[in-house]
Amino acid sequence: MKLQGRGVSAGVAVGRAVVAVREATQIRYRLSASGVERERQRLRTARERTRQDLEEISERLARTLGPAQASIFAAQVLMLDDPLLMKRADELIRTDRINAEWAIERVVDDLQAALAREGDEWLRERGGDVSDVGGRLQRNLRPDHTTLADLIEEIEPPVVLVVDELPPSVAAQLDWARVGGLVCDFGSPTSHTVILLRSLGVPAVVGAGRATSMVAPGQMVALDGVTGEVLLDPEPDVLEGWQNRAALTAAASRALDELRDRPAKTADGVRLRLEANLELADEVSRVREAGAEGIGLFRSEFLLDADGAGEEEQVEVYRGLLAAMAPLPVTIRTFDAAGDWRHPHRGGAAAAHRDRFGVRGIRSVLQHDARFRTQIRALLRAADAGTLRILLPFVTTADDLRFARGVIDEITREVGGRRVPVGAMIEVPAAALTVDALAEHAEFLSVGTNDLTQYTLAVDRTDDWLARQYEATSPAVLRLLRTAAVQARRAGCELSVCGEMAGDPLLVPLLVGLGYRRFSMTPTAIPHVKHALSTLDVRQATVLARRAVLARSAHEVDQLLASMARTMRDAVDGSIKEPA
Ligand code: PEP
Ligand code: MG
Repeated sequence: MKLQGRGVSAGVAVGRAVVAVREATQIRYRLSASGVERERQRLRTARERTRQDLEEISERLARTLGPAQASIFAAQVLMLDDPLLMKRADELIRTDRINAEWAIERVVDDLQAALAREGDEWLRERGGDVSDVGGRLQRNLRPDHTTLADLIEEIEPPVVLVVDELPPSVAAQLDWARVGGLVCDFGSPTSHTVILLRSLGVPAVVGAGRATSMVAPGQMVALDGVTGEVLLDPEPDVLEGWQNRAALTAAASRALDELRDRPAKTADGVRLRLEANLELADEVSRVREAGAEGIGLFRSEFLLDADGAGEEEQVEVYRGLLAAMAPLPVTIRTFDAAGDWRHPHRGGAAAAHRDRFGVRGIRSVLQHDARFRTQIRALLRAADAGTLRILLPFVTTADDLRFARGVIDEITREVGGRRVPVGAMIEVPAAALTVDALAEHAEFLSVGTNDLTQYTLAVDRTDDWLARQYEATSPAVLRLLRTAAVQARRAGCELSVCGEMAGDPLLVPLLVGLGYRRFSMTPTAIPHVKHALSTLDVRQATVLARRAVLARSAHEVDQLLASMARTMRDAVDGSIKEPA
């Protein structure tokens, strides 16, 4: 059986499925034979905790509101002894070898379905009580709030994680050495979770439809992060073909390693600067290994989970990063998080809307957010460990930038530190159009094409329903990119690109043609981009960019890019000499 999604992080992964839904709070997996008894004990303990909870509630209500109210919970206590609930769940653990959470989910679903079929209204309404007891049992199975990350530590690898969607804060906590790959029902190539996986080199497929309901937990799953194919119970010979192909691709990538210590240059000798994006500070070695000339974007909001955002913790992380990269520059972006970063979708449409258009990035500074001041203090205290640059996200107007800059200057005086270069992200059309004004308050600017595309085209970058409309090569986006480049050059302000476009070897020629010379990308992309640039002629790229900016559609731009790619490939082929 095969599912088709979109490959967003290259490589092949094979493993037993762990299925997690609802922001990874509901987890389904199969137990090893030796794990069954432990799981049954977990279920018994949860039942006793639940019984205690319900008896306490019932007694309290009897005292305060009277016996009628208390009887609801007394009835729930009785449900705990109903063989259709606990006995059945215990049986599922034994016979189907499934984890206790999943067993409870199944018996609650079955009971509710049975009650819903009843003609009797009183009985149908008991469905609510069943799910209430089920929810309490689930919570009591994990009273210490064991997370997906903890469970992954216990399940035998290799695992393929199958999710509806995975919040980046959860993704950041998982041990990806134990999880070989990810399949998502939803998702998009520029979501932060996918950006993180690309940077870690973990294969991923998104938009795989109803994978969470089609894949049985424990089932063997194989995924190809290039083609987007997902196989359930793959045949060994098909799998071998896939693995051979992945090995060849990996070998071709390794062949590019020799470029690591060479400077990035075009065929006609124009020097370019390639830096790396980083999400997890622990992964800094990947940046050095890829031959990056610095960190062009550290997405600090990944520190917000795991309570890593206290001032002292931050100082330690920043010092570590700066020291690991010294003397190369480290550009740390201040938290770019709206509202509740840990649960981006909690609160439904209104919260999602606030994430994109609300108090986000430096807008929080205007609201006197203490978190920003703490972060700036931590950054400045760490600054002497290396070469620090501070990057401000979601800048819209020069006024906002001036204000945030004022706060940074004030804190610099407070801590008695030296002035650190401050930059602004250009990721909102308003900012791209007023680079001249922004340049008066910043030492450098960095274009975030992920958001710039989203806000220019009014297409939510995480919405897989709109994947076809999310076109980074739209002439509208390219015109903004050109305007920003022209204005930055006139203002004499450093300008780079740090969105996903910069890491795409097919799109970088376009950016070079538009006047960009500095790029920051996921570390694994650096050798590929360096290689593509080495075959590029800047004059040709400039002609390409002029035509692309005047194109009538993204499709037309893509055709121009394809013909450019052919020219570059011919250049590579022509340079391969026959052995003497
Ligand atoms: C961008 O918007 O292009 C960017 C680099 O920032 P992020 O992907 O973190 O929003
Ligand atoms: Mg952005």
